[in-house]
This record gives sequence, structure tokens and C-alpha cells, in this order.
Amino acid sequence: MPEIKVTPLGAGQDVGRSCILVSIGGKNIMLDCGMHMGYNDDRRFPDFSYITQNGRLTDFLDCVIISHFHLDHCGALPYMSEMVGYDGPIYMTHPTKAICPILLEDFRKITVDKKGETNFFTSQMIKDCMKKVIPLNLHQTVQVDDELEIKAYYAGHVLGAAMVHIKVGSESVVYTGDYNMTPDRHLGAAWIDKCRPDILISESTYATTIRDSKRCRERDFLKKVHESIERGGKVLIPVFALGRAQELCILLETFWERMNLKAPIYFSTGLTEKANHYYKLFITWTNQKIRKTFVQRNMFEFKHIKAFDRSYADNPGPMVVFATPGMLHAGQSLQIFKKWAGNEKNMVIMPGYCVQGTIGHKILNGQRKLEMEGRATLDVKLQVEYMSFSAHADAKGIMQLIRMAEPRNMLLVHGEAVKMEFLKGKIEQEFSIDCYMPANGETTTVTTNPSVPVDISLNLLKREMGLGGPLPDPKKPRTMHGTLIMKENSLKLVSSEQALKELGLNEHQLRFTCHVQLQDPHSDADTLHRIYTHLKSVLKGYTIQHLPDGTVIVESIVIKVSSSAEDSNTKVLLLSWSYQTLIYNGLLPGG
Ligand SMILES: [Zn+2]
Repeated sequence: MPEIKVTPLGAGQDVGRSCILVSIGGKNIMLDCGMHMGYNDDRRFPDFSYITQNGRLTDFLDCVIISHFHLDHCGALPYMSEMVGYDGPIYMTHPTKAICPILLEDFRKITVDKKGETNFFTSQMIKDCMKKVIPLNLHQTVQVDDELEIKAYYAGHVLGAAMVHIKVGSESVVYTGDYNMTPDRHLGAAWIDKCRPDILISESTYATTIRDSKRCRERDFLKKVHESIERGGKVLIPVFALGRAQELCILLETFWERMNLKAPIYFSTGLTEKANHYYKLFITWTNQKIRKTFVQRNMFEFKHIKAFDRSYADNPGPMVVFATPGMLHAGQSLQIFKKWAGNEKNMVIMPGYCVQGTIGHKILNGQRKLEMEGRATLDVKLQVEYMSFSAHADAKGIMQLIRMAEPRNMLLVHGEAVKMEFLKGKIEQEFSIDCYMPANGETTTVTTNPSVPVDISLNLLKREMGLGGPLPDPKKPRTMHGTLIMKENSLKLVSSEQALKELGLNEHQLRFTCHVQLQDPHSDADTLHRIYTHLKSVLKGYTIQHLPDGTVIVESIVIKVSSSAEDSNTKVLLLSWSYQTLIYNGLLPGG
């Protein structure tokens, strides 16, 4: 039996460092190549030695597919391609291809220039890596080679995020990356065909969450920001440069306008300008409302939100600052946090998930004394709030996607084991399909139903069409009548006449006979004539012949009458028919 193997090198019962190996139909595909933000050592990158100890990755991998630009999905890519060594194709959507190198370079700067780490990829390596990227369009089937094809679907989540359908022969896998099943202010909802993959590999970040209604969440957010501003506090909102930042900006901008608020709102620059540039460039990837508004007014040019300068952080009075990165692990958001942490009037709102090991994760877990570099401790007195604005599918959304794609098996990644366990139970119960959740380095093997492709002759198809059936539809199975022949290692369904011709065989007819006894005192000829008359009266529309040689023929059925040797009152009826005419049998008159 053919099988598909899935091995997470990262994101197996964990969030961060997404990297999943799939072996399907003899092809090996790497899905995402992320880094773990919670580690500074070897654990930061996936363990590529799992694929090969000393050979080149190119010899083992047929392609790499990157779902979106978040670093936990693409952060290890230059390391893999340029330092470990991979020269094969790398696929990602156009927006991801444009934005990914900016985030990689930004992260490289923080890591190498600020933290002074060595053994990290260089700017040149990022450039060389991006040269290997082949951009994907949505809903366009891309042939990686003769057998392997991939197709991208819209995933919501962040600009350019895609789910991908991977197909070899009749086997297929869908990988979701990160996705969102509800549309928001600037992006649409994820969508996929009813493609019935053998395995659906889904993220499960919010496996146990069924989030409060979006409106409540937003009202809560605005209330908290407003209260803080009113009492003269400063509000820090650490964000990813692209994604939630834009969403929250639109929300605050509208609120400031409506409430006529005067406190300044800032957005850390650099990345922001680039981010906005890319939103404009890839406006078709955003939702319909933004696209419409874009014509009249640019939604990403804000009236109340201004560029941030480092010196503003020390200004007196209230303010709101959006700053990157989102998990407070480095950069500007961390600098501002250090300055504001000591004042209980201030507030930090974490709008997304924080990976273990980051300061964001620590303060969300209630830690109030933080050890900083150089053995200094930081007292955290400001108010810490967490509001889930990450655009991940919640439990309801994941179930919704399963209903959409109708997979035969489910495999969960990018989540915490306990939460996965809960969702796994729900999925198995509701859909009666197997659900797997392999840990990193653990392989899940799923056997697939072998299916054999068969060519159908055009003549046979035309004949079927002539019978007035529905038009052929690849998604609707139907019954076809014909003869299956195998020639030159491939199977063909043809009409029986064509099969005989192609195989050089003669046609033989198989006839069935039986004897029926009747009590009838009349002559043989008389009995036969009465049978003939009866058949003519009941089988209207059939050709019935009475031949001079004493036979009655109904289509291919032959009827003869003779008297029994022992008793002339007993007539013996000889019936003979070919296979096709069996259906008439029941209509023959009995004694
Ligand atoms: Zn993401």
C-alpha cells in the first residue's frame, strides 16, 4: 500500500520553528523553514541533520514551500539554503517573497549587530537565498516536476499567507501554515476547495479557544487604551511589523477620530514604511472593503498615527506607541518597555502569542522581576494586558476548514500538546477520521488508497453522452460500461468491439438453453402458433418472427416446440437465448 510520511523538525507539539517534512509518492517536500524565537542556541533552527548527515540537502529534497513571512515560518531559510546548503526550488507567494527578506535582514541585524552573535547568516546569504525563490500565484497549479504539483490558497492571517495543496498522482496533502477563518479589517478569510486530501496538516495555536466575539474584544481593547490615556499613562503595543499592527491601527485611528482624542499615537518607523509600501503593492491580497476604500482614501496613511522617534519615549504625558517586535525579545519595543516598566500608570498590551523564553511570555505569566543583560533586574510595575488579536483559526475555525476540505486524515502542528490533545478528541469524534499530533522528529505514516488511472476512449465517452447522461465531471463519480484492456503498461476502457479489434480476438456468442414442459393436446405447429400469438400480444414493440422452419424468434431468443416421445400430450419447449436477452425471460408464457 502506498503511504505518506510526515515528520515535524519543528512545530511538532510546539509553537515556533515550523518545519515539516512530507514524503509523498517518492517526493520529499519541506513545509516552512522557521526559527524558534525562544532559543538563542542550536535549538533555534530545525535539526537538518535529520534529513541527511553529510549529503547535500538538494539531493534529498524536491522542494521547499514557505507559507508566510513570519520568522517562525521562514527565519531559518537562509541558514538552510546557504549555510547547510540547498539549491533546489523554494516556493512562496509574491507578497511573502517581497516581505520575507526585509524581516530576515531586520532579525539578522538585531541578532548579529546588537547581540553580537556569530555563526549567523549574512545579508548576502539572504540575497542569495531569495534568488532561489519561485513566486506562487493563488489557485494556480504549479508543476514542480513531472509528478509533483502544488497549488496555493488564500490563508488570511497576514499579507501573502497561503495554504498549499501538494499532489503526487492520486495522493495529496494540504498544509495550512497559519490561517484565519474570519475576515478582519484588512484581510479576507481563508478558503480552500473540497480537495479531499489524504492528510490535512493544520496549525492549532488556538486549539482550545473559541474566542469572544470580535466586537467585544475590540471594545475591550479600546476601553483599556482609553482608560490608560485618561489617567495620563503611556501605552505600549508590541506588534509584528505586518499584520495585526495594521488591523489595530485602523481600529485606533477610527476611535480617535470618533472620540476626538488628542493624545499622540506613534508607530515605530522603518519597517512600518516598508510594510505600508507592500500593502499598497499587494492591495489585491487584502479584503474587499480596503480595496474599495483604497480608491478614495488610503487606509494605510493615518491621520492620527505618526512616525515614532526614539526621543519621544521620554516625553511627558500620555501616548500610545506601536513598536516592533511583537514578543518584546529585542529591538525598539523592548527599549521602550524598559523605560516604561517602572510606572504603574503605564500599560503594555500584548496583542499576539509570545514564544516561551521571550520577555513577552515572561510578563504574561506574571513575572514581575526580569533579569536583563548585564545582571540588572527590571521591576515590572506597569499594567500587563493580553488580548488575542493574532489571526489564527480558533477551534471553531479549524473544524470549519475540515468541513471545507474533507480530509481523510488530520495532523496537528504549531500548538501545545495539551491543547492539541483536546482538539484531536473533538475532531475524531465529530468527523470519524484519524487525527495525529507527532512530536518533533517523530514520523506519522498514513497509508493511502491506491487508485489506478484509466484512459477512456473518446468513442465510448461519446456513446455514453449519446445515451443522455450528465456531462462528465471529475468530482462526481459515475458508472461506465466498457471493456478494460491493458496495453503497454497502461489501462484503457474501450467498447467491447474496439477491445476485440485491438486484441485481435474473434467474437463468440454464448447461448443458454433450457427445456420447459407443457401439457397441451394440440399439434406441435398449433402450440407454437398459440405461443407466437400470445407473445405478439404481450411483447408490443419487439420484433417477433414465426419462421417456416417451425421456430419463433423474439430478438435473439429462439423457441421450438416438439412432442414428448412418451406422451404426445406433453410438449417440450426448447428455449435458447444469448446473454444480452435474459431480461425477456420472465415474459414467456407458462403452462
Ligand atoms: Zn504566522
